[in-house]
Amino acid sequence: MTFQAVLDEIRQRPGTGETIPIIDPASEEQVGEFTDGGAAAVDEAVTRARASFESGVWQGLPGSERAKVLWRVADLIDEHADALAEIDSKNTGMPLMQARAIMGTSAEIFRYYGGWCTKLNGIAHDVQQTGGITGVFSNMHGYTLTQPYGVVGLIFPWNGPVFNACTKLAPALAAGCSSVVKPAEETPLSALLIDKLLAQAGVPEGVVNLVTGYGHTAGAAITEHPGIEKVAFTGSTEVGKRIVQAASGNLKRVSLELGGKSPVLIYDDADLDTAILMAAMGIFIHSGQGCICGSRIFAQRRVYDRVLEGIANLANTVKLGGPAEDDALIGPLISQKQLTRVLGFIDEGKRDGVEVVAGGHRLDRKGYFVHPTVLTDVDPVMRLFQQEIFGPVVPVLPFDEDDEVVNLANDSDYGLSAAVWTKDVGRAHRLAKRLESGTVTVNCQMVFDHSMPFGGWKQSGWGYEWGREGVEAFLQTKSVYAQL
Ligand code: NAD
Repeated sequence: MTFQAVLDEIRQRPGTGETIPIIDPASEEQVGEFTDGGAAAVDEAVTRARASFESGVWQGLPGSERAKVLWRVADLIDEHADALAEIDSKNTGMPLMQARAIMGTSAEIFRYYGGWCTKLNGIAHDVQQTGGITGVFSNMHGYTLTQPYGVVGLIFPWNGPVFNACTKLAPALAAGCSSVVKPAEETPLSALLIDKLLAQAGVPEGVVNLVTGYGHTAGAAITEHPGIEKVAFTGSTEVGKRIVQAASGNLKRVSLELGGKSPVLIYDDADLDTAILMAAMGIFIHSGQGCICGSRIFAQRRVYDRVLEGIANLANTVKLGGPAEDDALIGPLISQKQLTRVLGFIDEGKRDGVEVVAGGHRLDRKGYFVHPTVLTDVDPVMRLFQQEIFGPVVPVLPFDEDDEVVNLANDSDYGLSAAVWTKDVGRAHRLAKRLESGTVTVNCQMVFDHSMPFGGWKQSGWGYEWGREGVEAFLQTKSVYAQL
């Protein structure tokens, strides 16, 4: 399916709300549009999902059968990787090479959770209170069942559309849930092809139901819907808080993968060339629009100047460009809204007296491109230091010793990821324990693997994706007592 074919298809999708434009972030041109599905589309999707769940057409299958389907989905993602990459790259503006690299990981997420389909067991218990409250029962047997929640809402952002979809769909399907799926309004296109691949792989009709529309319409309708048992959300902390409130109507379960302001600690004994390169790419890649981007860098005083200069050099030399520009490593921001937000943070910093060492402005060309920006003289009380910018903007601060840098790193409402660069193994592991963060990487950055749990501490989230925890997020436990 080509980019043009999905644009044609989405235009035909029925809807009741506003027309939503699809903008190419590299040219600022409108390339397509679609109609907001709104609450009506969500209602229909929930009805279909509920019917499929109750019929047992998916959740009632043996795990080994669900596993085969998930493996076929993975194979189909591999087969269609070029098409999916082209769609995501043109829709988000990210370089084609990067979009292509993500497709392999997306397929692997399905293979990984295909494996879990046959391993979702309860456990037998040695019941201690053999008589129960009445004391009349004896010879008790207890065991637990793990069962799918039912109908779940899956809502995700624009920064990696296929990857974000697979991260939620694979474990939800492995668990046996039926779902209502809403991609971001900026990047709904690849979800249409994923939807077709799921059907082709054998996911029965009604099990996965795609809804396209705005967050405040379709997204809100999912979070408020009484027919949905659980919402798994990836997006901003601000919207995450709204979802928690909306979910209270039927006390739906909520898992949240939210924003970050991830610290990077570079010690003077680190392999500095690698640390500098990775710290720079760890914030500038994807124009800083990655949840685990290292958006606060702390360098030990003896190497501070070298780190600052190295990161500023990379900021000044890395090539920005759209998907059509072969040698570009970094694409544009996703939207005018995001551009305004990022430039707003930079301007505020300038007014507050921060020093701009590199960048600090948008590129003089079409597209939402911001020059990678390096800042110093940033006070930890500033919004620049405290809030997620989600752009290629990074303050670099000096530190002298462990307690000081741990306090600076933990001085945040967020706790998604942290990186430590040092050759002192003992210090690395002591810091890994002290940093308030769901993930800590040592002598590496931007690392994740679908076999390891991923989740945010503090206001970066609730619960975990990936690993065993990722599929357990779609399962609930039942205790069964039987007198033998
Ligand atoms: P966003 O919160 O604005 O939107 C995310 C999704 O939520 C979109 O599909 C949107 O339509 C929907 N939405 C918006 N308002 C809603 C509402 N009231 N009810 C229900 N749904 C609603 O986030 P964004 O700007 O699209 O994405 C960037 C954010 O995502 C950043 O904060 C980033 O850190 C975060 N993110 C986190 C992770 C993670 O795993 N922790 C991964 C990627 C992105």
